[in-house]
Amino acid sequence: MNKYRDFDNYLKEYPDENGYFGKYGGNYLDNPELIKAFNEYAEGYMTIAQSSQFIAELRRIRKDFQGRPTPLYHCQNLSNMLGRTQIYLKREDLNHSGAHKLNHCMGEGLLAKYMGKKKLIAETGAGQHGVALATAAAYFGLECDIYMGEVDIAKQAPNVTRMKLLGARVIPVSAGLKTLKEAVDAAFEAYSKEYKTAIYCIGTAAGPHPFPLMVRDFQQVIGDEARAQFIEQTGHLPDKVVACVGGGSNSIGTFVPFLADPVEIVGVEPGGRGEKLGDHAASVTYGSEGIMHGFNSIMLADENGEPAPVYSNASGLDYPAVGPEHAMLHDMNRIKYVTVSDEEAIEALFILSRKEGIIPAIESSHALAYAIREARKGKPESIIVTLSGRGDKDLDYVVEHYGYGENIKL
Ligand SMILES: *Cc1c(COP(=O)(O)O)cnc(C)c1O
Repeated sequence: MNKYRDFDNYLKEYPDENGYFGKYGGNYLDNPELIKAFNEYAEGYMTIAQSSQFIAELRRIRKDFQGRPTPLYHCQNLSNMLGRTQIYLKREDLNHSGAHKLNHCMGEGLLAKYMGKKKLIAETGAGQHGVALATAAAYFGLECDIYMGEVDIAKQAPNVTRMKLLGARVIPVSAGLKTLKEAVDAAFEAYSKEYKTAIYCIGTAAGPHPFPLMVRDFQQVIGDEARAQFIEQTGHLPDKVVACVGGGSNSIGTFVPFLADPVEIVGVEPGGRGEKLGDHAASVTYGSEGIMHGFNSIMLADENGEPAPVYSNASGLDYPAVGPEHAMLHDMNRIKYVTVSDEEAIEALFILSRKEGIIPAIESSHALAYAIREARKGKPESIIVTLSGRGDKDLDYVVEHYGYGENIKL
């Protein structure tokens, strides 16, 4: 029995036409205007994004504007230090704007253009998604409205500056706790009124259909490139493929091309500072089935079934749910989910900086930390790690809380 053969027709089977990955996914919004808007969106995506013209234009943008393909880099210094395991990095930190998020933002921007829309709407928490979307809007000559809680605006000044420089409007949200949750509500509200002229762009492979499918498709360029590059460099497949999981976009894009291969796939969730609810954001590891933000998946809920408070030192990973495709692949036992703590991630950040001259984002450092943990077992195997972004945004935080890594053993 070869368990991987079940995945030969995977892309044809999942999601179904209503956006279900098994029992997960779908569209559970209750606003009829929004349901109409998302149905139009799904239809637009299914027809336009398959056209050869769209595909050719996106390919050109990826090459000339984003700088793709990003390299697959064999970390020889790091691998030698750790022993016999060979670690390879898929360098999404070298994608234009410094992270993988631009992969789906450029796709969504191009779709907006083809659908005749004038504006991109989104919310942002830490600001990374807002910056990527503002970049896409500038490229396509579209307006861009980014909804952001007032608390986040105060905390994330450099990203607010970037968005404004790129020509986006940053709209402060003053309701409730003034953070991401309220910004999501405000962005949905705006979209329900403006959907004839605007499209909404989510920051990860989650949300109502068609987002989990569409974002997965646009992010799949990571895994497609990495697989071909690894085979070209080594003549065989890797033993393991690893990526960090927030909402799950860089990871699902990395993983899907390897599903039918005899390769172990590992999603790394943020273990934060402990196992209590509120101390981590490890949705698959500690969560259960539930509906939030208009889709069914595995989530961390409080006693009232509302999204629970989450924590990680990587702000891009602190989301209380995971995209529905991850939930299904977890149930199918095809992807293994593990946790890495704040401390372990920071150790990995220091090690990669000093050993290879690459400063990774704290999010990406979670994936790397797991690969380092595995490599310390000393097996002669190879691991691809998706380095989802660069660490520039994290420098002040890291140095203030952890110094320069003087105590790390190399
Ligand atoms: C946003 C972000 C993530 C987490 O998002 P996913 O949708 O889970 O990929 C990871 N790494 C970086 C650098 C990010 O900016």
